[in-house]
Amino acid sequence: MNNIDNIIKYLKGSNDYIVTSHISPDGDNIGSTLGIYYSLKKLEKNVYYVLDDNPPQNLKFLVKDINILKSSEVNLKDYSIIALDCGDKNRICLSDELIDNAKKIVCIDHHASNDSYGDFNYIDINASSTCELVYNLLVRFNETQNIDLIDEITATALYTGLVTDTGNFAYSSTHASSLEMAKELLLKGAKRDTIIQKVFQSNSYNYYKLLGEALNTLDIVDGKIASIMVTKEMLKRNAISFNDVDGITSYTRDIEGVEVGILLKEKKENEIKVSLRSKNYVDVSIIAQSFNGGGHVRAAGCTIYDSVENAKKQILEAVSKTI
Ligand code: 5GP
Ligand code: MN
Repeated sequence: MNNIDNIIKYLKGSNDYIVTSHISPDGDNIGSTLGIYYSLKKLEKNVYYVLDDNPPQNLKFLVKDINILKSSEVNLKDYSIIALDCGDKNRICLSDELIDNAKKIVCIDHHASNDSYGDFNYIDINASSTCELVYNLLVRFNETQNIDLIDEITATALYTGLVTDTGNFAYSSTHASSLEMAKELLLKGAKRDTIIQKVFQSNSYNYYKLLGEALNTLDIVDGKIASIMVTKEMLKRNAISFNDVDGITSYTRDIEGVEVGILLKEKKENEIKVSLRSKNYVDVSIIAQSFNGGGHVRAAGCTIYDSVENAKKQILEAVSKTI
């Protein structure tokens, strides 16, 4: 039996589920989690959406009717975890206690750095998004069980992850299958205009003030490596939360001639979240892994426990070696 069919069999056979994803939620994280959440609800399973982190402002529309629980609010005994879009067991956004006591972990993911930590794994590192994997699973579910689980709400959730992880169908991870999926989801009633407006066209004035400050820190090395910084003072001054600035990394990559773009984001003193993006040939997931992070060939991240200035020095040194 293949991985998808094994997972379908397991989902049908068990009863209590926690669905979750990685820390610092993004569109694919929330879209894929919702795709499985709604499907299990339709199958009349007990399913809890648990995530110890807050969705970014521009994705709140997707979860406005969902009661997302924190680990401390969950009191379950016999449950399985379905971890979506999470390439690393340490990044599952639940308490260690919940992770350690799960009966089984089902991992559905597309990160190059995933080490198949689940008891059941459906991992395809060439997939555009985890939403595409959830879509494949739901299509297969319909083929084998004769139940169509994709309605308008699920289509909207999955379409969101597809557009965010492919940069609006721009990245090389956008395959013909991704476009076919987009078509099918639109036919199912995915609310494309709402998604585009909420995700990409609802930035606040403060966000632009922060963006201006961040772009003022732009530094380009040899024309090929560009970095910007966001300090916690900048976030505080502009009343923007840590999880609401991820989109700005692309400004660094999108400069002509630049191969690697870097965002250094200060979470706390001496805790710097680093986002890496590449354009053509540098595998940034390898660079991120050398700092105990991970991700994809063209988009990856890690955390460096040092000052912003030192983190920048370290990451520039590592990136320079790959150029
Ligand atoms: P971002 O830079 O947007 O936070 O992340 C880019 C990609 O790398 C995402 O797919 C994200 O899940 C992954 N990623 C970011 N930070 C880490 C990390 O510290 N560890 C791992 N394993 N993956 C990361
Ligand atoms: Mn993803």
